[in-house]
Amino acid sequence: EIVTRFAPSPTGFLHIGGARTALFNWLYARGRGGKFLLRIEDTDRARHTPEATEAILQGLAWLGLDHDGDVVSQHEMAPRHVEVANALLEKGAAFKCFATQEEIESFRETARAEGRSTLYRSPWRDADPSSHPDAPYVIRIKAPDGGQTIIRDVVQGDVKIDNAQLDDMILLRSDGSPVYMLAVVVDDHDMGVTHVIRGDDHLNNAARQMMIYEGMGWDIPVWSHIPLIHGSDGKKLSKRHGALGAQEYQAMGYPAAGMRNYLARLGWSHGDDEFFSDAQAKEWFDITGIRKSPAQFDLKKLENICGQHIAISDDAALVQEIQAYLAAANQPMFTNAQFEGLERAMYCLKERAKTLPELIEKGHFILAERPLAMDEKAAKNLDTVSRGILKELTPHLQDVSWDRETLEEALNGFAAAKETKFGKLAGPLRAALAGRAVTPSVFDMMLVLGRDETLARLTEAAS
Ligand code: GLU
Repeated sequence: EIVTRFAPSPTGFLHIGGARTALFNWLYARGRGGKFLLRIEDTDRARHTPEATEAILQGLAWLGLDHDGDVVSQHEMAPRHVEVANALLEKGAAFKCFATQEEIESFRETARAEGRSTLYRSPWRDADPSSHPDAPYVIRIKAPDGGQTIIRDVVQGDVKIDNAQLDDMILLRSDGSPVYMLAVVVDDHDMGVTHVIRGDDHLNNAARQMMIYEGMGWDIPVWSHIPLIHGSDGKKLSKRHGALGAQEYQAMGYPAAGMRNYLARLGWSHGDDEFFSDAQAKEWFDITGIRKSPAQFDLKKLENICGQHIAISDDAALVQEIQAYLAAANQPMFTNAQFEGLERAMYCLKERAKTLPELIEKGHFILAERPLAMDEKAAKNLDTVSRGILKELTPHLQDVSWDRETLEEALNGFAAAKETKFGKLAGPLRAALAGRAVTPSVFDMMLVLGRDETLARLTEAAS
């Protein structure tokens, strides 16, 4: 069985790069009937807060990246990490190091002065335990002496590291607390993780982590270190490129399905397919489709894909997403009647909208209530002449059947009788029906509003 995981450090928000890492792991597991696990790497207690974990969980929930089993807290696994450090000690793969801080400092100084590597190799690595003093110690891994370590990486290929670049890394500090590098390996092993997909900023860690896998005789998971996301200028994505947090995109009103689709395409591809469903992504996603060069974040592409998702989305589902969006963006909630109106109007709102707030904006005519407030342009379109025309028009709509064809006939007929074009009527009608100059089509608004509300608005505007 395939088991993947997402292992974020709780930094206070879900980074867009982390969201993509989570998505890749999720797609890989979900497309293969495997499991997708979630582990919060909260070993740094000083910096960790419950809110920081909550922010990550919320970001994942918004993106629909559901995990299997309980959320694992790395901190809570500390006793197990200690146990493995001791097991490595017993196997002779690790050793107690009694070197003092001063001794290590002076080793480094000498190495620097002599132009040698400052990576620490402890004189205690081969000491006879009977010679151990009764003094504080740390537990270190015994780094391999010569040769090379080869990281077999699906994305990067075989990455060779000279073992001379590895130090006798600390596993347990003198206060008995385990280090992060040990925790990651033990947790991945204990959680049964078979495939690790993570940022290539962890590639160097992989070589050090291999020492622990080999010391314990554990299977190394299939590693895939993916290039980080870059901005449009080719530099590593940072604040100056725009929003970094997944939730900021939620607050801007991008639909989750569009976000998933876009993030999946960021560094991975399936032929020329740009726009696809979750089902297709799960079926198509494979590590072999991950590019070795960094992908560039492109807001225009994100918007384009989001627009395509909105256009094919179910009306009721979009209304639900709007509801979640308003809550996430801390905006006032609409009434049930307003949400019902939005759902009836959705067919004509979703055509060219790229975000949820754009849907709301286009749906203004159905959300607004009489007496309608007029924006400046709409007010201009409702001059005395136009008001007179609207007053004349109203009786013509009283008894006609309320369908698109009849309404088109009625309005075109009325325009012809007034020796004008329907286009001339449109401005005043938009103003009367929506209080705005830019709206969905007049006929769509009339159909969604219904006869009574339409006539009431026309009468109000004409008076
Ligand atoms: N906690 C690490 C991070 O947030 C990820 C570690 C890993 O995936 O192995 O960058």
